[in-house]
Amino acid sequence: MPKQTINGNCFICGKTAAKAAMKNHILKEHDNGDEKCYLMKAEGAYNKNYWLFFTVPMDATLTVVDKFLRQIWCECCGHMSAFRPGGKSKKVSTLLVGDTFLYEYDFGSTTEIILTVVSEILRPKQREKVLLLARNEPMTETCDTCKAPANDYNAWESEFVCENCAKDVDEDALLPIVNSPRMGECGYTGDEDRWIFDPNKPFPQTFSGYAKNRPRYIRVMENCED
Ligand SMILES: [Zn+2]
Ligand SMILES: [Zn+2]
Ligand SMILES: [Zn+2]
Repeated sequence: MPKQTINGNCFICGKTAAKAAMKNHILKEHDNGDEKCYLMKAEGAYNKNYWLFFTVPMDATLTVVDKFLRQIWCECCGHMSAFRPGGKSKKVSTLLVGDTFLYEYDFGSTTEIILTVVSEILRPKQREKVLLLARNEPMTETCDTCKAPANDYNAWESEFVCENCAKDVDEDALLPIVNSPRMGECGYTGDEDRWIFDPNKPFPQTFSGYAKNRPRYIRVMENCED
């Protein structure tokens, strides 16, 4: 359904821009600090209207990227995940500008994410390894049956449904509409995504403090390829 131009929000200053313009904006305005990082881009492999720009320090490993992508876009049942090529223990500093690689979450109902190393960049020192700089705005969806504003996603039919049409759908098929390429897969509800842009809050919006207050999940972490 190509229909909207998807803009995104800069979490550092609040600017609104489309994906390519956002990259230029970040490199022009937010390349400053002491910590050497890579600016990375993440996109849904089958819907590139879902996109993120984030920084990750050179001395980190891809483990922190795995953790971040799980929280913002993927986590439902503690499924396995993998980077292709490369394992989670791969050092960020061994990547090169221009590299693209794949992240896969859940080998059954798989979500595939394309990662691109955009540029070197500096940032102020911070506690959390990954800093989200920008992401696409949530998309406005309409009911595939009657064109009213959609309320849910019918995962069995891959359709959006409004509140009224949802009455005719088995409730096990209904999943929330979320700002993630994993929408509609397995039992994904977006509960761990805390990076919700709020134009009324002061900038930068880094969300570091929220982590401590979140509920703890018991999760089986499986190492697949490392
Ligand atoms: Zn900005
Ligand atoms: Zn699941
Ligand atoms: Zn409807």
